[in-house]
Amino acid sequence: MEKRVGDLGEFGLLDRLFTLVRRAEIPVGLGDDAAVLTVSPGRWLLVTTDTLVEEVHFRRAWASAWQVGYKALAVNLSDIAAMGGTPTYALISLAVPGSLSLSWVEDLYRGLEACAAQWGVRIVGGDTVAAASICLTVVLLGECEAGRVRTRGDGRAGDLLLVTGELGAAGAGLEELSAPAAACPPAARARVVARHLLPTPRLAEGRLLAAHPAVGAVIDLSDGLAQGVREIARASAVGAEIWSESLPLALATKEVAAAHGQDPLAWALYGGEDYELLFSVRPSAVAAVREELDRACGTPVRVIGCLLPPEAGLLVERAGERVPLARGGYDHFLQPGKNYG
Ligand SMILES: [Mg+2]
Repeated sequence: MEKRVGDLGEFGLLDRLFTLVRRAEIPVGLGDDAAVLTVSPGRWLLVTTDTLVEEVHFRRAWASAWQVGYKALAVNLSDIAAMGGTPTYALISLAVPGSLSLSWVEDLYRGLEACAAQWGVRIVGGDTVAAASICLTVVLLGECEAGRVRTRGDGRAGDLLLVTGELGAAGAGLEELSAPAAACPPAARARVVARHLLPTPRLAEGRLLAAHPAVGAVIDLSDGLAQGVREIARASAVGAEIWSESLPLALATKEVAAAHGQDPLAWALYGGEDYELLFSVRPSAVAAVREELDRACGTPVRVIGCLLPPEAGLLVERAGERVPLARGGYDHFLQPGKNYG
């Protein structure tokens, strides 16, 4: 008979899961009351946390346990990337029903460990607790050179707004998972679903941006471009304008949108979970920053708008028309993206 989580008990379960992760070379590691870590002189410590809840952030019908584990760590890595840091150690808290199969939880840990290994992170502790549904919390530590961080509040009116990679694919992937379209080309579907399930944190890009004197505000896009721009504008006390025709949409995203009869710009603006970096740069340095990101990381970067004086508010420009950026929904030409649940 298949083993269940409840068969092992808390300590048995943790012992079993900890065999799936690499050991860190730290003063006190897995299995004691607390992990003991060293802090390097001249460095700042970064800490972030994020929780994934079943049926809110993931569905077992759509994502394997491995994918849920990978993504849970990747979204935390994206926050460290936005600060320009290097991730170091992670703690994993797991709430699961005792009836859940042990192999599901082990696969979850394998996904966590795969992501950790890929990005140089060690899992140094964890907790498990019985609960009615699955809930996974990651606490991630990182570090950066003292003084070298960029926050959401470092934008200045007159800066241009840039974004790494592409937008809208994760929203397209979520749409395909929740309501598959028969007309959707399989290759496009596979690509956008992968973007939704396995995001890539922009860690090298974030470090490069934090080190560049012409870069202002930086944020990672977990909740859509519109929300990212809103956050930078709020924290930097500026206005902003998004040039919707400049948004980087992959061909696959456009193909999925066509199959669904939807506007891919809505996914880019409101869909969320792209985990790209949105940042502001002084206009005179834009070419140099783009070139540096391309050379060091091979990452394309697109200029997608600008920061304005605060009285300008938040605007979206399309076909020469400027309209206020909608908060949740949208009235004229852009529909709000869907969310889970
Ligand atoms: Mg973030």
